[in-house]
Amino acid sequence: MRNESATQLITELSAPGRRAAIFPKADIPATQLDDLIPSQHRASSPPALPELAEGDVVRHFVNLSTKNMSVDTHFYPLGSCTMKYNPKRHERLASLPGLVDLHPYKQEDSIQGMLQILFECQQILGEIAGLPSVSLQPAAGAHGEFTALLVASAYFRDRGENRTKVLFPNSAHGTNPASAALAGFDCIQLNSGVDGLVDLEELKAHVDDKTAVFMITNPNTLGLFETDIGKVADILHEAGALLYIDGANMNAIMGRTRPGDFGGDMMHYNVHKTFTGPHGAGGPGSGPIAVRDYLADYLPGPVVSKTTDENGEPYYSLTTPPKTIGRIRSFFGNVSILLRGYCYLRTLGAEGVKAAADNAVLNANYLMARLKNAFDVPHGKLCMHEFVASASRIVKERGISAMDIAKRLLDKGFHAPTVYFPLVVSEAMMIEPTETESKETLDAFVDALITILEEEPETVKAAPWTTPVSRPDEVQAARKPILTAPEEQTTS
Ligand SMILES: *Cc1c(COP(=O)(O)O)cnc(C)c1O
Repeated sequence: MRNESATQLITELSAPGRRAAIFPKADIPATQLDDLIPSQHRASSPPALPELAEGDVVRHFVNLSTKNMSVDTHFYPLGSCTMKYNPKRHERLASLPGLVDLHPYKQEDSIQGMLQILFECQQILGEIAGLPSVSLQPAAGAHGEFTALLVASAYFRDRGENRTKVLFPNSAHGTNPASAALAGFDCIQLNSGVDGLVDLEELKAHVDDKTAVFMITNPNTLGLFETDIGKVADILHEAGALLYIDGANMNAIMGRTRPGDFGGDMMHYNVHKTFTGPHGAGGPGSGPIAVRDYLADYLPGPVVSKTTDENGEPYYSLTTPPKTIGRIRSFFGNVSILLRGYCYLRTLGAEGVKAAADNAVLNANYLMARLKNAFDVPHGKLCMHEFVASASRIVKERGISAMDIAKRLLDKGFHAPTVYFPLVVSEAMMIEPTETESKETLDAFVDALITILEEEPETVKAAPWTTPVSRPDEVQAARKPILTAPEEQTTS
């Protein structure tokens, strides 16, 4: 059943004069508004803000919050997104007044504690990457890609090399070519081999002295570890190009192997994926990059450096790399997300990080093994932290698509997996359970999927039945949201 109050917009709930708090009359003389803001800078009428009692506002938003799915309410196996549970302890620690109330313009010597945390973030992320020089500034993974490509650009310019091309496999996340294009490179897409991995011959055929960077996700978006990554690195390095590792899938390998050790020269992290942090609804994110030491001079500033003061005590200072590409984010990046990631990493420690990766891989393989009969898994011998099933056969046999199954899962109390990505698998369903889910949850998810395959196709194709909105036109809904609440927008 729909909850009537929560389907109304807050503006529709408004009643003139209603207030959360009514203040006593001011006992200081009134000031003429014209003395404060000249009339030409003022709107001609007051803004149409909703007028409500506090209780109405709270109910409205709490009810709205239950209309969507979140990691706190549902299993959320959204492939490539690492929707792991976010421990509440991180929220508490990141909300300590000494952290949240710090003003970013405070003097360096009065924010030594914060700078120490940020310095340690740089150290830990550099260690897990095997790439020692870190910038915490980028605000998300895609922003990290863009930043690293600007660093590569500056590096080659400095060496007097005119390299114009960025290569990526056809299994790449869309942000890879988008970042390369934004950074001014020509984008070259390579076909993957039949095994879903980089095709070395295809790579060799495209790498030349105009190649700046090859961007690759490892494990890749099919959930497969690129076993030839060392050879890939050699091909690029022999041509004088750089190997970029998209670190969105670090949850599979953190603590087990390091991008720097298998030949990567630069990478980004998605702190909001791999190291918890709230994630979804578009932000906030954090996408630090780690690079080889010879690229450190080009990183955006400031970075945090550690020295010793006159008493021999550690002192943390903000420094700007000598050939920096400049700032790409205000202050020190999205510190609140970095703090949560820092709590996560310090809580788990080196052994715990490794165990998290191992369990993420174990959970994914368990799910894959249980679903292999019901679905085709084209590259399904052994997966890393996620796998890509295909609903192609089910479309043929039952007329039900990956999208229909995804929508029907919502009725069963599960967030849908990522569908139709990566593009190299038709009717793709990309499933990533993460390490934070129990066997019971994974089993319930498998049961739900198998039940859906046995249901009447008509029921599945018209799903979801239980959500406030059934099947909006996704492109239209994003570009032209309907900001009124007509009855026909709902299925009851
Ligand atoms: C999520 C993701 C990105 C982009 O990261 P954002 O933090 O969302 O900007 C890039 N590549 C892959 C493989 C991803 O899964």
